[in-house]
Amino acid sequence: MKYMWFSNFSIKNKFKLILQITFSLILIFVTVFSFYQISTVTVSSNPIIWSENTTEDNSNDESKKKDYIKWFEFNVSYDVLDKTSKLDINSYTKNEDVKLNWIELISYLACKYGNNFSKFKQKDLDTLVEKLRNGESMSDITKNMKNYNYYYEGYDSVLHEFIGDYQIETSDKQFVEKYGIKAFHPIAKNYSYSHYDDFGASRSYGYKRLHFGNDLMGSIGSPVIAVESGIVEAVGWNQYGGWRVGIRSFDKKRYYYYAHLRKNHPYAEGLKEGQIVKAGDVIGYLGMTGYSTKENVNNINVPHLHFGIQLIFDEVQKEGPNQIWVDLYHLVDFLNKNRSEVYKSNTETKDYSRKYDIIDPSIPE
Ligand SMILES: [Zn+2]
Repeated sequence: MKYMWFSNFSIKNKFKLILQITFSLILIFVTVFSFYQISTVTVSSNPIIWSENTTEDNSNDESKKKDYIKWFEFNVSYDVLDKTSKLDINSYTKNEDVKLNWIELISYLACKYGNNFSKFKQKDLDTLVEKLRNGESMSDITKNMKNYNYYYEGYDSVLHEFIGDYQIETSDKQFVEKYGIKAFHPIAKNYSYSHYDDFGASRSYGYKRLHFGNDLMGSIGSPVIAVESGIVEAVGWNQYGGWRVGIRSFDKKRYYYYAHLRKNHPYAEGLKEGQIVKAGDVIGYLGMTGYSTKENVNNINVPHLHFGIQLIFDEVQKEGPNQIWVDLYHLVDFLNKNRSEVYKSNTETKDYSRKYDIIDPSIPE
């Protein structure tokens, strides 16, 4: 009885109805699926996704226990990077009573603005600094800000080694102790480059995908510099990046990716997997290799360095489908404050080396 209405239909009408239902189901599925795709890429309205690890199958007990950040957007503006870094550095170099930590300042502001730094007001930063200088602690100030720890962990994961103590060589071969910016710009000093905010732009070579880095247009052969100290994790050819090098920070949280290096002479002398490089070292040379399954092919139209930083809160994210890459546009401008000077150290191989060595305490002994 229940299906009487249906059996009253002619065969033709039944077929039509079934077809309509099937079509509607496909439409719903496609809509839901594409929304899911978009939300995994942008998630701008709600960037906070702490993993509870309930849906994933983790045979590994270690990762079952811990929560890790599944998504983070590095949105801080150049202006705020500039202002907070100066407050931090001055509080140390001028030996002020209250030491300011730029990552804490940035995280507080991120929390206040929902990670939208176009809302930045100088007054908010001034008020915060005044409170800290009057003896209030950051944990007291932020105790009712429920996302503070998330933003702190996120911003710290990027900026952890960018400011701190280090020693740098002077022109008379002495080392002097410093506190300040100790990460370097990815292009050597006195080599020009241009860039724009191309993060998330679409790329069509191979498959439709988004651009997860910053392209620095420059001339072929410009020495490429290690931004942070770390261990060389990948060297050699890959279809998209051409001659590329991947360097992992010592805390394992950042994977630096430098791609499209020079045809025939991509790498600094002797660069190999497992090697420790120091921030400011020459690691390779700008070129236009890539977009080819065949090695040593120049298939990139405009010579540039592709520079990327991947955040890894849990090792499953390294090669996983939901990788977190940083929008580096403002950070590259910020690193312009600290560029590594180089000289031709080998006229035969035409290799370059850094002029001023550093002693970086982040390097394990
Ligand atoms: Zn690129």
